[in-house]
Amino acid sequence: MERKFADRKRYSKSDILIKGLLPSSMLDWPGRIAATLFFGRCNFRCPYCHNPELVLKPESYETIPPEEFISYLKGRMDWVSSVVITGGEPTLSDGLKSLVLFLKGSGFDVKIDTNGSRPFVLEELIKENMIDFVAMDIKTSFENYPQAVRAPVDIEAIVESIKLIIKYAPEYEFRTTLVPGIINKKNLEDMVARLSDMEARSIVFQQFKPENTLDVEFRNVKPFSNNEIEDMVDIASKYLEVEVRGI
Ligand code: SF4
Repeated sequence: MERKFADRKRYSKSDILIKGLLPSSMLDWPGRIAATLFFGRCNFRCPYCHNPELVLKPESYETIPPEEFISYLKGRMDWVSSVVITGGEPTLSDGLKSLVLFLKGSGFDVKIDTNGSRPFVLEELIKENMIDFVAMDIKTSFENYPQAVRAPVDIEAIVESIKLIIKYAPEYEFRTTLVPGIINKKNLEDMVARLSDMEARSIVFQQFKPENTLDVEFRNVKPFSNNEIEDMVDIASKYLEVEVRGI
């Protein structure tokens, strides 16, 4: 497919904090080869986060100029048609919308990974048809969120994002990393029941890997066994379709 690039003047470079670029991945967008952009900064401090440098010290990475990324895409446009924007938390960057507009204007499909804390950003992107896929992390039960993200959290905003995604996103996934100490059978059931009440269809469970975690103590946390995960899947399956990754 011949793809023409949108006018570069349509995006502003002022707050596009691209801190990493994965040239091609088959893991970040199931079924697709995608280029992945990593945005710096996050408003949460999940102790099990696998990108602590992006969250805690984004300034220690050089910011990749959008031109560099665009030039990369230009060289591969015959086989990379999808872009995943992840982080950190990309919705914190004011330049996100202009970058997404640029990508869509150039013919790329765009997926965004988010923690759901900024529904007003998601709403604009989704309702203006700028996003093809939204993946949102649901950390634990809403009651347990402050403990899971170790930061001030507006649960109403999280709920609003979930409802918005269910209602308007062209394609979406909710996903939960199964971290001992953050989730257990009880709060997992609370979580999936609330999602089911909001008419979510499914959830993805991801096995926790105790590597390079934000809180170094979580590097000693033993992941749930396959049997424990099966028990959680049984509980969640009463409410939602369940997919498990990473075991
Ligand atoms: S896991 Fe996601 S939401 Fe939590 S600190 Fe890391 S980037 Fe932020």
